[in-house]
Amino acid sequence: MAVYDVTIIPGDGIGPEVAEATRRVLEATGVKFNWDHRDIGMAAFEKHGDLIPQETLESIRKNKIGIKGPTTTPIGEGFRSVNVALRQELGLYANLRPGKTIKGVQSNFSDIDLVVVRENMQGMYSGVEFDAGKPETIEVIAKINELNTKKVDPSAAISIKIITEDATRKIATFAYEYARANKRKKVTIVHKANIMKFTDGLFLRVAQEVAANYSDIETNDRIIDNMCMQLMQKPEQYDVLVMANLYGDIVSDLVAGMEGGLGVAPGGNIGEGVAVFEPIHGSAPSHAGKNEANPTAMILSGAMMLRHLGELDAAITVERAVEQVIGDGMKVTYDLRADRDPSKAVGTSQMADAIIAAIQA
Ligand code: NAD
Repeated sequence: MAVYDVTIIPGDGIGPEVAEATRRVLEATGVKFNWDHRDIGMAAFEKHGDLIPQETLESIRKNKIGIKGPTTTPIGEGFRSVNVALRQELGLYANLRPGKTIKGVQSNFSDIDLVVVRENMQGMYSGVEFDAGKPETIEVIAKINELNTKKVDPSAAISIKIITEDATRKIATFAYEYARANKRKKVTIVHKANIMKFTDGLFLRVAQEVAANYSDIETNDRIIDNMCMQLMQKPEQYDVLVMANLYGDIVSDLVAGMEGGLGVAPGGNIGEGVAVFEPIHGSAPSHAGKNEANPTAMILSGAMMLRHLGELDAAITVERAVEQVIGDGMKVTYDLRADRDPSKAVGTSQMADAIIAAIQA
């Protein structure tokens, strides 16, 4: 039987508690792991004086797979966002965010089953920004005004949106390959090509070219604002959604809200031969160390990791066990209770115990 070398990064805040719950649940499936414990973020800063230690990056590069708890981004000048840096350093170009209703989770929607595929590296988050009033900004604006008929106010701050054909081809191919491998029927290309004719126009054109290679999967496209309204009105008409970075950031949180919120929303960041799975929630410092955080999002991120490793049966077992425990509603954390009464809830580790019992039943 295969033993998987996996880098596990507990993170900080509630991270270590939900990561430990996840490790125990994944091991209960019978799949064998050789865990390589590494630090990143505040935990790494406290131990090594570095938010993103090279050893952690090297461990993920070597193992090709990681699972990560949330990390606090310190507020202040000079701190890079750990998550953005990880994506850039490891080339994790695809952010995969499935949103599926779990019976028993409070939500205004039912039967949500959507997957958001977000381009992770460019678009409006290219990091090419110019601050208002700086000499270099004034120079850039002067050059734009020389080359472009539409004039920019010299006092403006500027962000540059970057969309390349290669990156679009990669993310669109990822979305279609994901759809095919997971027996999804439709991919919707989300854009604003009616207004941003060059950047989003390129994204739409290239994604449609990729779509032509996947005649087994239906394709349509939606303008981003209409997409948001349609998700509120008829989400059942959608399946896999692929889009550029900023739209994906927003729509994936919208879908997380539709499925019932942060506590249950898993995610994955995937690159060429390397992937890191993590819940979408943050380190929720006010809940840290109290054994009260909901471990579901990280456990479901673990199930995504199992799928990525090809351990489909184990992934389904974990997902069903989570659904069973939440559906029963007896051994869930306070946030999953309609009354949110902590005295009737169980802790993080007890919820993990219940999921393990459901796996082993
Ligand atoms: P957060 O997700 O940490 O918390 C928001 C609220 O959601 C919390 O107060 C809590 O009530 C609830 N919540 C979140 N996860 C929960 C869980 N598993 N169980 C129960 N309740 C949960 O967002 P924030 O407060 O904006 O951010 C806190 C820190 O986390 C910041 O430093 C931020 O930068 C960081 N962050 C990290 C990541 C990441 O590592 N991927 C993602 C988002 C935020």
